[in-house]
Amino acid sequence: MGELDHLLASNREWAGRVEREHPGFFRNLSSQQRPKYLWIGCSDSRVPANEIIGLLPGEVFVHRNVANLVVHSDLNCLSVMDFALNELGVEHVIVCGHYGCGGVSAALAPSEGRVMDHWIRHVRDIAKFYRDEIEREPSVQAQARRLCELNVAVQVVHVRESPVVQAAAARGVKVHGWIYDLADGLLRDLTPTVDGVRALEPSCRLPG
Ligand SMILES: [Zn+2]
Repeated sequence: MGELDHLLASNREWAGRVEREHPGFFRNLSSQQRPKYLWIGCSDSRVPANEIIGLLPGEVFVHRNVANLVVHSDLNCLSVMDFALNELGVEHVIVCGHYGCGGVSAALAPSEGRVMDHWIRHVRDIAKFYRDEIEREPSVQAQARRLCELNVAVQVVHVRESPVVQAAAARGVKVHGWIYDLADGLLRDLTPTVDGVRALEPSCRLPG
């Protein structure tokens, strides 16, 4: 009896249920995947991509890391975008943050000198850049929520600045910024916040 037998049993039950509801589901999916969406989200266990947008396996390609960051030199994330856009033909890239993000909140507190702090430093830089706007919020909680939104908006710009996405945008690929509220399970479109963030860095724009 293994410690995780309950998870394996749960998996068998799930696979059986999906196959009953969609006969041939796994056989069809095993030969190809054609997701329309690339999801770049936080690793937080409360924000599972497929579940909150109601999609089955095969319908969304997913990359998650702490605080849903798109770092210009992160080969992991860049490779995911390259594969999703150029191999799978994804049509929409969704950057999704969430209120109550521990990674974002950590950026508003003093550094503890942990490995994580190197990663969170990217969020800390955003907090510094938008300090005036964040400090206009009336409470610590509201400031953290605003930084969650601004972080998504900046990551959307980073996605748009990447050469792989600039090339894909020319054939109609769209990039979206969303935020998820743990308190009500709902997603919100952050287009106004995204539009308020600085335009594409001219020196990063591809010719043509
Ligand atoms: Zn998070």
